[in-house]
Amino acid sequence: MKTDSLFNVKPVLSFEVFPPKSTTPVESIYKTIDELKHLTPDFISVTYGAGGSNNNATIDICDAIKNKCGIEAAAHLPCLYLTKERALGELERLMAAGIQNVLALRGDRNPEAEPCGDFHHASDLVSFIRENSDLNVIGACYPETHPESESMVSEIRHLRQKVDAGCSQLITQLFFDNEDFYRFYENTRIAGIDVPIEAGIMPVTNKKQIQRMVAITNAKLPKKFVRIMDKYENDPVALRDAGIAYAVSQIVDLIANDVDGIHLYTMNNPFIATKICEAVQTLFK
Ligand code: FAD
Repeated sequence: MKTDSLFNVKPVLSFEVFPPKSTTPVESIYKTIDELKHLTPDFISVTYGAGGSNNNATIDICDAIKNKCGIEAAAHLPCLYLTKERALGELERLMAAGIQNVLALRGDRNPEAEPCGDFHHASDLVSFIRENSDLNVIGACYPETHPESESMVSEIRHLRQKVDAGCSQLITQLFFDNEDFYRFYENTRIAGIDVPIEAGIMPVTNKKQIQRMVAITNAKLPKKFVRIMDKYENDPVALRDAGIAYAVSQIVDLIANDVDGIHLYTMNNPFIATKICEAVQTLFK
């Protein structure tokens, strides 16, 4: 199924997982997915290493999500370090496995590697996928602007180009202040972007993790969030529970404001995903 059709009945709930690091047994991800499937997400997306050196794990994991667990899957595909030939190979593998959804990304720049030069922006990959397949194309977007963006105006202009190239739904970068999302969403509508936008929610469960994420994404930390982290930084269980409660409060507010969907960055942690889903499950009916 193409996941853009799910938005007829809002709100959609999706999860994101990542392939295990090379030091972790590959089986661990299948155990994670097995636990996540009981939470009945509408679809699960699987990240893809930016350098293109992915050992084929993303598509294999999508295959298991779709064909063993019976849940729709979406494969991430960053393009900066992919040739067109390699991209085509990945699309063919996806289609052979019956996967109909791809999150088309540019990927982050690696200062030590030269991009292949076939794709410069995610919109180039979106057009390429539309020309060469019948896959449903998802795009990424940034309520607080992408770290490389000059302004919200240029951010939205480029997003409009990406949607016009053929994205039928969008997923946001994580954010901790819902007001940023509402402002961004309104700007997209003013700019004529009318595809559904899922809000990306990352439950924060340890201080190091959030410092790393903030450094990568430029996400702002609201004062009430910083107070929680400062108070519980030396009490991992209390910090985990406070992080879950914070994510739940974000989701409740977003659904009350008719969000198109919630994309939960599960960090491959079924315990935390379960706690959150238990708290909000009736809101998705
Ligand atoms: P783009 O849409 O190309 O935008 C990147 C920047 O370029 C923006 O500042 C944009 O305004 C600008 N831009 C776009 N088009 C133009 C143009 N025509 N001219 C000038 N400037 C332009 N990374 C991974 O490596 N693997 C993953 O699995 C992965 N999953 C992600 C999932 C989500 C939901 C999100 C939000 C991000 C994910 N990322 C992933 C990170 C992503 O690859 C980075 O944020 C990357 O830096 C930008 O990718 P993009 O697809 O948004 O790029």
